[in-house]
Amino acid sequence: MKKKLNDNLTLHYTNNFPKKLKSSSNKKYLVTIGIGGNIGNTKKIFDKLLLSLKSNKKFSILRTSPLLTNPPFGFLEQNDFLNGIIALKTNLSPNEFLKIMQRLEKRYGRKRSFQDAPRTLDIDIIFFDNKKINTKKLIVPHKDWANRESVIIPLKYMMNI
Ligand code: ADP
Ligand code: MG
Repeated sequence: MKKKLNDNLTLHYTNNFPKKLKSSSNKKYLVTIGIGGNIGNTKKIFDKLLLSLKSNKKFSILRTSPLLTNPPFGFLEQNDFLNGIIALKTNLSPNEFLKIMQRLEKRYGRKRSFQDAPRTLDIDIIFFDNKKINTKKLIVPHKDWANRESVIIPLKYMMNI
């Protein structure tokens, strides 16, 4: 199912996105991640990512958002992006969590070429509980999250499911 929001933005409803998986967990930190991609079968990559997160005992997946297609910014000669949000809980520290997310990006064939380049899978930590982090490796909340339609629209629809 699709829902066109305007000329640029369309929401996509799939089997796994949006989905409510758990309403609570005893794990310590509530983490919100943003996922994005515009190369290959992005929906399939998101499904595989969700499956590997679900099968990892370090994470309890709470819910997922619908997926949003939206145009690229910066480098414009590339396909539209598909973006979504996953809310989960974990006991990992922010740095341990980032490491695992980067491993997953690699597993799904991400190539870093230049800034704002096309990509198979981008995983960004949007919020990590109520922590504020500002190190070389990690800025949390994610810089500019409040101005990105790719974050705020899926987030808003995820809250309402
Ligand atoms: P962007 O996601 O900004 O388009 P990249 O994914 O290529 O760009 O940026 C990756 C780098 O961003 C990583 O090396 C990581 O250390 C750093 N980074 C800083 N803050 C975050 C965050 N909140 N989530 C994910 N990566 C982050
Ligand atoms: Mg990133």
